[in-house]
Amino acid sequence: MRLTEHVRLVGSGAAGFDLTDPLDCHVYLIQGGRSAALVDAGAGRDVAAILRNMDPPLPEYLLLTHAHADHAGGAAGLAERIPGLRVMAASPAAGWIAKGDERMISLERARTGGTYPCDYQFPPCPTVVPITDGTRIDLGGVVLSAIATPGHADGHTCYLLETPRYQALFSGDCVFTGGRISLQNLHDCRVPEYARSLSRLATLDIDALFPGHHEISLSRAQRHLTAAHDLFTRGFLPPSTT
Ligand SMILES: [Zn+2]
Repeated sequence: MRLTEHVRLVGSGAAGFDLTDPLDCHVYLIQGGRSAALVDAGAGRDVAAILRNMDPPLPEYLLLTHAHADHAGGAAGLAERIPGLRVMAASPAAGWIAKGDERMISLERARTGGTYPCDYQFPPCPTVVPITDGTRIDLGGVVLSAIATPGHADGHTCYLLETPRYQALFSGDCVFTGGRISLQNLHDCRVPEYARSLSRLATLDIDALFPGHHEISLSRAQRHLTAAHDLFTRGFLPPSTT
């Protein structure tokens, strides 16, 4: 599904547009003049469905927003099927993804709670390498930059897309349309870090917001970041998605 000149939606589950497996987050393909990148990988139960939504040449990069299974579970399967795919995530999430650490990515808890079926397992992706705040990836005419945004989970990273005509943010589970955020009772969900991350995002000037689930905003999208930041600034918590 084409969203902008450079961005296509190639995966999306039940908390989105039912394009691929129900557990998948939104999976975006960003096409530059020289190469392409995926943002997030889905849950990994049906990687072939995501691949069917892409045309050759296949992407060179897979940039993960965080280690939760609906975002990173497909990394191993995509790396297996896309030769030379460079999988990146921020620490400590990168280490958890490499090892398939189901406790640290809160999968054990989510499976017990019924969010994931009891037979779901996270496939480790040993080829993942760490990405740091400020890293820029030039795809040819368009650039993706990593912005560290902990709060929803440790190692959470948003990716800013800069093109000659517009800017867009791939926000994972950090911020959604309407200024919603995602607070969960998990070991690495941290409110002060969340507020600081929204302070950083509030200084951007984006046109489009591409979150990990739910609606997508194609214009005037900075208002969503401002709404969340304003509530944090006043000492309140923005509304949380499920
Ligand atoms: Zn998450």
